Amino acid sequence: MNIKLKISQAGEPVLRDAARPLSSQEIKSSSIQQLIPVMRETMHDAKGVGLAAPQIGLPLQLVVIEDRADNLPQEALAERARAPVPFQVIINPQLSVLGDVTAEFFEGCLSVAGFTGLVPRAFSVRVECLNERAEAIEIVAHGWYARILQHEIDHLNGTLYLDRMKTRSYMSHENFNNHWKDKSIAQVKEELKLSLYNQS
Ligand code: ZN
Repeated sequence: MNIKLKISQAGEPVLRDAARPLSSQEIKSSSIQQLIPVMRETMHDAKGVGLAAPQIGLPLQLVVIEDRADNLPQEALAERARAPVPFQVIINPQLSVLGDVTAEFFEGCLSVAGFTGLVPRAFSVRVECLNERAEAIEIVAHGWYARILQHEIDHLNGTLYLDRMKTRSYMSHENFNNHWKDKSIAQVKEELKLSLYNQS
């Protein structure tokens, strides 16, 4: 298969609307069953670790995620609590935060192409949802996996990471790579003077 869908960019109304849940019958329908591999292909092609249906213009509570985690050095993986996540389909999710530990890292979005920003997220979450066979599943996730789930499920509620980021940290990927990528988050926050702007 080699069908790729166009990814909506910030400003498309669909990215700001609440998506609707799918019925079991719809999940098992050929249109959704055929859409899932196309979303997977689109996510891979864009080098993303998650893709929500609103990002391809469909206001449906359907997300695909997969983190191959093969593009980062070991120390970065450890710092971000990032480990491979196998391909997974998440439908009609309910997310709850577990505990009160948070983590801050730079995050990007295929719908805000070329940019990144520092986003605080819960370290641990629980997601109750349906899978691609309309079976109820429960996911308990920590670290980067929990971040991906929070980011993608936000898309189903019309929320972008832009709404949650420390705005002074917003920057192009190019400038992130040129100036910031080798610094600790604490150092970045200090140099960007986040505390002066109540963003620490
Ligand atoms: Zn996104």
